[in-house]
Amino acid sequence: MRQVSQRAQAVRPSATLQASQRARDLQASGIDVINLGLGQPDFPTPAPIKAATVQAINADQVDGYTATPGIAPLRQAVADRMAATQNVRVTADQVVVTTGAKMALYTLFQVLLNPGDQVLLPAPYWVSYAEQVKLAGGTPVDVAPTASLKVTSAQLEAAVTPKTVAIVLNSPQNPSGLVYTAEELQAIGDWAVQHDLWIVADEIYGDLVYDQAAPVPSMLTLDQTIVDHTIVINGVSKTYAMTGWRIGWAIGPVDLMTTMTRALSHMTGNTAAVSQAAAVAALTQDQAPVGEMKRHFQERLDTVYPLVTALQGFELVHKPQGAFYLFPDVAQAMALKHCATTEDFVNRILDEAHVAVVAGEAFGLPHHLRISYATDLVTLREALARLATFMKTTD
Ligand code: PMP
Ligand code: GLU
Repeated sequence: MRQVSQRAQAVRPSATLQASQRARDLQASGIDVINLGLGQPDFPTPAPIKAATVQAINADQVDGYTATPGIAPLRQAVADRMAATQNVRVTADQVVVTTGAKMALYTLFQVLLNPGDQVLLPAPYWVSYAEQVKLAGGTPVDVAPTASLKVTSAQLEAAVTPKTVAIVLNSPQNPSGLVYTAEELQAIGDWAVQHDLWIVADEIYGDLVYDQAAPVPSMLTLDQTIVDHTIVINGVSKTYAMTGWRIGWAIGPVDLMTTMTRALSHMTGNTAAVSQAAAVAALTQDQAPVGEMKRHFQERLDTVYPLVTALQGFELVHKPQGAFYLFPDVAQAMALKHCATTEDFVNRILDEAHVAVVAGEAFGLPHHLRISYATDLVTLREALARLATFMKTTD
């Protein structure tokens, strides 16, 4: 047998992408599956963004390679949005544009980690962090959740070792939709600074928050010592319904961004010029479409939250405040259905209720399900009705 690397062998496929592919395959075979597995806005990219992109194509502006860290207007637009939304000053050379936030995270771990270095991942966490850390030769370290599903500095203190290099903090959080307050971020930031760790702050859902007027605080709004240890990850995928355009970015200290750029010059060269033009339009045009999409997400959350909590054996203590996911504890529901693993439970829901969701294991927390509400209200109500019938049916 010819060799593939141990690194590659150790990597698990993305559970979110896999769950959705399974749903698509079943749909293709004629089964009416509702896909609540994938985390992507169901809205089209706003028309003015598309129009500006078409114009850039027709003006021959997007035909060539670009600078590796992104075109200057895009790096500046990212910096300007940080000023507008968070009142934070960053310079364009602190911004590196990548092929989605996923690539920003991947590249970052490549440049931060030596073999065996540890990265603290407070559970629940997004599925790709642990695999990306492994691909970079590092070791992901799960930090068990509190009842609130938000990590505290005391828990981090119990998990830190001399090998720890970084912590990943995601707020609003995928899969729970929970949001850290400025005080909570400050406490974790102070703790990370004490240990001289990097803070990877994944703020990709930062614009999608509900039930509150104030924006979610960015890690970059905190003390300068914390800012000096922080790399913010963001992108256009969620805020502007642009998942397919693949534009994300990292914001961090200039030296580190220069190192990331050097690595990227051998990896992607640059991300697609046409998508960069689209991202400039997204960030600089009227932001009204974002507010409109947010209103829909809020309405959906308000509709599905009580329906999920009413499901037999589903427990959801806190109403999510951001992103577009619910992450109920389903330990009792699994017992009612005699399912030993969350994976079994998810498969039965798919086979019997024809609803696709993702098992909590991939997020570091078994006995939970991730339900995405990034779909229309009629479909969501139908999915929840199917789940209610499934739970009422005795085995
Ligand atoms: N971080 C989190 C928490 C996510 O849910 C996602 C999902 N796409 C990403 C990063 C990556 O986003 P993208 O690559 O589409 O920018
Ligand atoms: N981040 C989204 C999710 O969690 C998209 C899929 C992925 O990239 O993993 O579902």
